[in-house]
Amino acid sequence: MPNYDELEAKVINTGSCTVCGACILACPNSHIKFLEGKPKRPKKTLDCVSCNICYDACYVLRPGIAEEIEGEILGRLEKGGIGIHRRILAAKVKDQNIAKVCQDGGIVTAMLLYALNKGLIDGALVVGRDGWMPVAATAKTRDDVLLASGTKYGVVPVLKELRAAIVDHGLSNICVVGSPCHIQAIRYLKHRSLPIASPVKLTIGVFCRENYYVHAISEKLKEKGLDSSQVDKFNVTDDFNIYTGGKKLSFPITEVKSCVPRHCLTCQDYSSELADIAVGSDGSPEGWSTVVARTAQGEAIIADMEKEGLIETMPLENLATIEELAARKREKGKQTRDIFKLKDEGLDNKAIAARLGITESRVSHRLEGT
Ligand SMILES: Cc1cc2nc3c(=O)[nH]c(=O)nc-3n(C[C@H](O)[C@H](O)[C@H](O)COP(=O)(O)OP(=O)(O)OC[C@H]3O[C@@H](n4cnc5c(N)ncnc54)[C@H](O)[C@@H]3O)c2cc1C
Ligand code: SF4
Ligand code: SF4
Ligand code: SF4
Repeated sequence: MPNYDELEAKVINTGSCTVCGACILACPNSHIKFLEGKPKRPKKTLDCVSCNICYDACYVLRPGIAEEIEGEILGRLEKGGIGIHRRILAAKVKDQNIAKVCQDGGIVTAMLLYALNKGLIDGALVVGRDGWMPVAATAKTRDDVLLASGTKYGVVPVLKELRAAIVDHGLSNICVVGSPCHIQAIRYLKHRSLPIASPVKLTIGVFCRENYYVHAISEKLKEKGLDSSQVDKFNVTDDFNIYTGGKKLSFPITEVKSCVPRHCLTCQDYSSELADIAVGSDGSPEGWSTVVARTAQGEAIIADMEKEGLIETMPLENLATIEELAARKREKGKQTRDIFKLKDEGLDNKAIAARLGITESRVSHRLEGT
């Protein structure tokens, strides 16, 4: 029976683990901890001998499962573009007290506050921070939601928090906010009908081109004479942008490619294709969010927030931009996955290039994340 040892050998130690936190959540004995940026089992115990729960909870081991789930929850398959959706628009929150603490249009925060007020949810899994280190947290109140606003770059096992949300906080209608990988992971647990996933009633995914190791970014900033503790906001466009003391500093995104985890280099989901609602900034003017309502539930939430005057909306200016970003991530992710596979088989860059019919420099660019 495949147990933690196999999970470690096939996913965690190969750099394929997206640190979603599902295995940590699923272990009935709490044997798996988030240690040194990875899910780790510090002590091997007899419980693991005839148990496969953590192995079973890992969506990374099920290639093709995202397509199956897409068909299940969205009614059809559509590979390409930004995924299946009922409505796409640009939006921003009207309440300036919310807007001023948020990353872009404040739509994620506004939706969570709306869903809490309406009783659609009694809490949410969100990402807070310790310095700039992202930390999975449970939000039950307006203050909790506002405290979690803003983007923190860095891997974070959001789903590990689900047990505490249910058991310690007594929640039964939960929204999961996460990157595309977190959303795929929770959809997989729901698809498998794991009882621990049943209180999750809503998913809000953010767009994601790539993520970074927090310590590696801090080191990069140090090289530039900057201290990350003085940064007010990070934001990634075609540049890596840092806001500090009212100033904006930008440098080319290629300079932080060495800070991108391996699992992000092979990732193919840019726009949280399995979320009820996906939100990003690409495609909209500064201070606005691009909002993609995929399910009927997601569409109804946006429509009601509009009706209640909570958000300002307008047609999306730049659909082509996000379609292109989605296509580029899919193509790069697939190619990089194939390159890593051949690399792991022991082929050198020249042999990989010949096998895949691409140039050697393309192989090295992909391995560097460019
Ligand atoms: C790693 C990462 C990469 C991203 N890359 C892109 C991109 O390439 N293009 C693009 O258009 N948008 C990207 N985004 C999304 C963008 O930064 C905003 O999160 C999004 O536009 C929502 O803005 P908002 O004002 O509605 O969010 P807010 O209302 O400020 O709320 C932000 C929410 O994000 C959650 N969050 C914060 N950090 C993380 C994290 N590390 N993992 C999961 N959830 C988190 C918090 O729980 C919070 O509820 C990325 C986000 C992350 C986390
Ligand atoms: S007890 Fe089961 S779920 Fe927990 S670590 Fe061992 S094999 Fe994994
Ligand atoms: S379940 Fe998530 S955290 Fe655990 S090994 Fe798989 S990808 Fe990593
Ligand atoms: S690039 Fe993919 S794996 Fe990496 S954080 Fe974003 S969604 Fe997750």
